[in-house]
Order: sequence, then C-alpha cells, then structure tokens
Amino acid sequence: MSFHEQAPRIHLGTLLRFGGDASADGELQTLHYEQGGQPETLHFAEPAHYDIQVHALQGNEFWLQGHMDTVLEMECARCLRPVQVPLDISLGTLMRYDPSADQPYLEEADTGEELLVFGDPDLDLSNYLAESLLLEAPLSVLHDPHCLGLCQVCGHDLNEGPCEHSASVPVETLDERNLQAEHEGKQHARQNPFLALQSLNFPDE
Ligand SMILES: [Zn+2]
Ligand SMILES: [Zn+2]
Repeated sequence: MSFHEQAPRIHLGTLLRFGGDASADGELQTLHYEQGGQPETLHFAEPAHYDIQVHALQGNEFWLQGHMDTVLEMECARCLRPVQVPLDISLGTLMRYDPSADQPYLEEADTGEELLVFGDPDLDLSNYLAESLLLEAPLSVLHDPHCLGLCQVCGHDLNEGPCEHSASVPVETLDERNLQAEHEGKQHARQNPFLALQSLNFPDE
C-alpha cells in the first residue's frame, strides 16, 4: 500500500482493555472519505499533518483531541482554477465505543454536541477528519476578488481577455455584474453559471 492510499488511523485496542491514552500522527496528501455513500476526496496542496490523542473517560466513553494543519486545494467559484486555502483546525470530540457499529459515525449527544461512535478498535479517522475540515472550510472561494469568471456561452476564461460573446458588453457592465455575483456568491456555495445570462439582452429571434 502506498503512502497516498493509507487512511489516518488510531489504534485503540490497548486503551479499550487497560484505559489510559493513545495517540497517532501522520501526513496526508489526499483524504478519501464518504459522503452520502459516495466516495469523495479532499486534496491538499502540501502534506497535511494531523496529530490525535485519545483519553479514556468512564465506561465506554473517550475524549479525542488534536490538530490538523492543512492547505486545502479548492476551486475558484467563478473560473474553476485551483485556489489554495490554508486551514488549521483544533479537534475536540467525545467518543463512544459500541461494538455493534460497523463504521464509525457521528451522532448528536444529549448535550447537543457531536459524538463519534466507533466499533472497530483500529479506528479509521478519514470521515471524521474530512467532516471536521469541511465544517471549517469556506463554502466557496475566489482565486481573485476581481475574477471575471468564464464566458457563459463558450467557457472561455475571461481573466485572459474577452471572447466574441463579451466583446459587445461594456466593461462597466461586467464590473457591475461581477459585484452582483460576488454579493450572491455569499449566499450560494457555487455561483449559478446561468445567473449572468439573465442580465444580458439577447436580440429577439
Ligand atoms: Zn477565478
Ligand atoms: Zn464566449
């Protein structure tokens, strides 16, 4: 198994039998996880470092704490070019051992806090770390606040100059539309590619 395919894991067998502490750390270039049954991958611009400690509490309960330092590889919401997003997170989560849990999962505890339930003492942290990162990551990013985006007709990157479809649109209009898109971008995870079309006046056919 290559470095890239290794999932972040922590071994809790000794902790489960004898109590005490356990720890794990490592580096990841990618993080494979599942969301709604679909395999997903987070990409890091440079190796992401994680360190995790787990302490036994009472009964089947444990406390997980740690850090993850990453530079997340995201896409500009307008032109799709890669954007590097530094993201350092602190982790602190209550855990419960339940041998009937096939896969580790997060559930809401009575206190309203998230509880990580696990059944395999060789705990795969992939989904937990991905979810923790995604909670802190911005929903959308721009490679530049003045990114002009892609032409809605031909897909040309307008940051590299106008195409035949934008040539007739005055620059001021582009700027206004851009401001408008930026405003709306705050409410949407991804800019609706057809939004800009609404402000164009096409000749009647
Ligand atoms: Zn862009
Ligand atoms: Zn075009």
